[in-house]
Amino acid sequence: MVAKINVDSRPHPRPGNDFVEWLAEHHQSLLHRWLGAEAADTQVGLSAEEAINLSSVGGALLGALAGRSSAEQFLDASSATLSLTAWHTLLEALRRSIVAELRATTPADQSLELLVAADDALSELAGEFNRFFEEQLDQVAGERDHYESLYSVTHEIATSLELDRMVRSALEGSLKTTGADGGVLLVLDRESGQLLPWSDVGWEMNPIQPERLPEDWTQGWRNEPISPMDDIAALPPAEWLNALQVPPGMSALIVAPIIANGEFYGLLALGSRQAYRFTTEDATIVKATTTQVAGACENAEIYRLINSQAQQLGSMLRHQQEEASKSQAILESIADGVVVNNPQGQVILMNPAAERILSQPRDSLIASDVRHLVEAFDDPGGTTALSAIEQILAQSSTPLAIEAASSMLEMDNRVIHAHMAPVVTRRDEFLGVVTIFRDITKEVEADRAKSEFISTVSHELRTPMTAIKGYTDLLSGGAVGPLNDNQEHFLSVIKNNTDRLIALINDLLDISRIETGRVRFELAPVKIGEVIADVVEAMAARAQGRGLTLSYEVDAGLPEVMGDRGRLYQVLTNLVGNAINYTPEGSVTVDATIVGTAVQVSVRDTGVGIDPEDIGRVFDRFYRANDPVVQEASGTGLGLPIVKMFVEMHGGRVWVDSEKGRGSVFTFILPVPGAEPEPEASTALPSAVPPIAARTVLVVDDDPDIAQLVRMQLENNGYRVITARQGHKALERVSEDQVDLIVLDRLLPDTDGLTILDQLKSNPSTAQIPTIMLTIVEDDGEAMARGASAYLIKPVNQRSLLEEIDTVLARQGRVLIVEDDLDTAKLLTRALRRVGFTTEAASDGYEALAAARRVRPNVIIMDLRLPGMDGYEALSHLKRNITTGTIPIIAISAHVTNPVAERERLIVLGATDFLPKPIDIEELIEAVDRATKLGRLASLPTTHNSQATRKA
Ligand code: ADP
Repeated sequence: MVAKINVDSRPHPRPGNDFVEWLAEHHQSLLHRWLGAEAADTQVGLSAEEAINLSSVGGALLGALAGRSSAEQFLDASSATLSLTAWHTLLEALRRSIVAELRATTPADQSLELLVAADDALSELAGEFNRFFEEQLDQVAGERDHYESLYSVTHEIATSLELDRMVRSALEGSLKTTGADGGVLLVLDRESGQLLPWSDVGWEMNPIQPERLPEDWTQGWRNEPISPMDDIAALPPAEWLNALQVPPGMSALIVAPIIANGEFYGLLALGSRQAYRFTTEDATIVKATTTQVAGACENAEIYRLINSQAQQLGSMLRHQQEEASKSQAILESIADGVVVNNPQGQVILMNPAAERILSQPRDSLIASDVRHLVEAFDDPGGTTALSAIEQILAQSSTPLAIEAASSMLEMDNRVIHAHMAPVVTRRDEFLGVVTIFRDITKEVEADRAKSEFISTVSHELRTPMTAIKGYTDLLSGGAVGPLNDNQEHFLSVIKNNTDRLIALINDLLDISRIETGRVRFELAPVKIGEVIADVVEAMAARAQGRGLTLSYEVDAGLPEVMGDRGRLYQVLTNLVGNAINYTPEGSVTVDATIVGTAVQVSVRDTGVGIDPEDIGRVFDRFYRANDPVVQEASGTGLGLPIVKMFVEMHGGRVWVDSEKGRGSVFTFILPVPGAEPEPEASTALPSAVPPIAARTVLVVDDDPDIAQLVRMQLENNGYRVITARQGHKALERVSEDQVDLIVLDRLLPDTDGLTILDQLKSNPSTAQIPTIMLTIVEDDGEAMARGASAYLIKPVNQRSLLEEIDTVLARQGRVLIVEDDLDTAKLLTRALRRVGFTTEAASDGYEALAAARRVRPNVIIMDLRLPGMDGYEALSHLKRNITTGTIPIIAISAHVTNPVAERERLIVLGATDFLPKPIDIEELIEAVDRATKLGRLASLPTTHNSQATRKA
């Protein structure tokens, strides 16, 4: 091992004087011998540099042997670095040179003594060399340990993320490496700004302010090399010495700041009781240690940061998990079914309530398409829900525009309310659709029961009301003699209250019927202008009574709407009635216009108007304004809700504009089927056809009051009336008497009215007698299907009854049925005969033309697909012919894809009406009734008003 030689100042033993003298005498020849023959092998093992220096080494070696210099002085002078082995070789060579010189120059008796002295001196020198090298070895080994421990400390520091442990090992390592007696490692606490002693050995101290220390240490950017302070006792007094709280007895110090990337992290101070104990190298090593500590401090800080962030994240995660589990628990326990689907429509989440309500296990629904789920429900709810979901999914790119929707789903006698809404995050991200299902079967049933109850009670109230009203009408009409003023007044009070009561009962019934879904809409093309004219005519007297002008204005060319004429009449009656009621003076105007593809009807008045804050409530049930004019008028607050429901059931909309004290405008719109508006025909229709006198009507009713009432109403209008209280009695009367028409109650004490109807219709001698049902039972279509000619619900006013009787009796006309299909022809014949018409048949176009000319029918029913000349051709021939041109023709066909368009086409060709197959018998009879009226009208002189305006 090669080592750098250090200075050693130990005393050197002196050789004997004789030998020293002998050496001085023989110096040259010894050197010569040593370098000459003897030195040849001495050079073995020497490096080139050693070999070059050999003579100077030899001189110095001789000097050392003579005791003139110590081993290290000699080594310094030789300025060579030789290995121990090399030294021993040189010494051996020197010994041999000495022995040879002694043998050659000195007598044997003297040479032995000199030889002994030479040996002593040589072995002394060798020992010195040995010691010296051993020392060197120790020193090097110490340094190795030193570096090894430094390595292990720094390694530990570098790998340690725990500041405590790292600091301790840095301090311990430094103590060990430098041989210090005590030390302390201070770390800067960023929060308090103080230097805190994190680890100490034999150096206890309190936290200090870094400002008390020299800036060289605490200004990280300086980061200057450090050197040991050899003796602090010799230093002038300084604040930092106090601040460092150096333990008593310490003399030498190393203070190294801990700095990384220009950042000050702390301080490492080491102390030794021995002055000058620390070398510059110690200081360098300590500095290296602190650099490592600084790096570790940085790491530790990063670690702490990461750790605290991880902890934060962890607690956030825990919090979120807790929240999620709470939400989950809520979701699991709510009674409403929740189903969430993703933007693709796949079900991704559902709760147990949804499983229960939908009667399907979660496993089978998760990942399935929500659209299939709602599709499975009965229509129209299923379709509504499906289209709502489709719409939400389709608009997913603009979630702000999406609105929630709801639908009523029905399946297996269960009613489920579904509410669909988009799931949108705060950042407008569309996540899917959430559908809330609620089983409302019980509520619906309860509601139905309530409506049923109202319906039953109202029905029961109708019978006595019919009698009261009828007799009051009769009395006030003078049927039993003249009345005095008082009597007339009382009767008018009774009549008013009766009307109110009947109106209330009717309103209640309407509402309960709508709610139970039992409203039957007889949809047909309706000319709204006609309805307006009828309503205005009917209300004219009332308006006049209050000194108001009532008028109407209908746009020319107003298209027909599809609707139930009776219901639309009711809507208009209500609106016009309100306008009259709540207008103390001025006018009421009704107008109808085309707006886009809809017909818009407005009822305008100059009345009390509505408070702005009440506008939103007028369509609520039982709402009546607190206005004296309103309170004075009789009313139920049910009229407008019914108007709203009826208009909406027609696919329309109703609203109000009003100004308090100036008047109101109630407007509704109804959609027009098909785009092309059809010009409206003349609005004037004779309201009543003169009755055919001396006809016999059989009135079958178990309530004697009602029977008597109807009798009087009919007799007053020129009919002969016979009555029967029981079913079997009625059958007897029919066989005994010539009966032209029967008014039949449905609820009879012995048997039900429908059975009597069946028996009448099945007997050929009575089958032709038209029968009108007059009953409190709601029309379920049964009676008409079994051959009744009309269905009236009590209480019915005299006018309606007479009108209906008139219509039915007018069916004495002849109908030509042009149909090649025998079954259909038979069916139509039977149906028409049953209600009183006589019929003729033709099976193709040619036959039809011939029969029309021959029998001159009142109405022709024409199938369009016929062999030979088809219906279209026959139709145009008939219309062009002068004798058959005015006969109304009802076209029928099974082969039509677009009935609306077909209807228009046929009307252009001259047909009166068109009915697609399969034919609804009731509709057919109504169409024939309308056609017969039109036929009669066609023979009257025509009045053509393009814009009909009538003043009441
Ligand atoms: P009713 O007329 O039997 O009170 P409605 O439902 O028809 O019930 O009307 C509810 C309320 O709306 C009325 O009581 C009245 O306060 C207000 N209203 C209806 N029509 C008008 C109108 N043309 N002018 C002023 N107020 C009206």
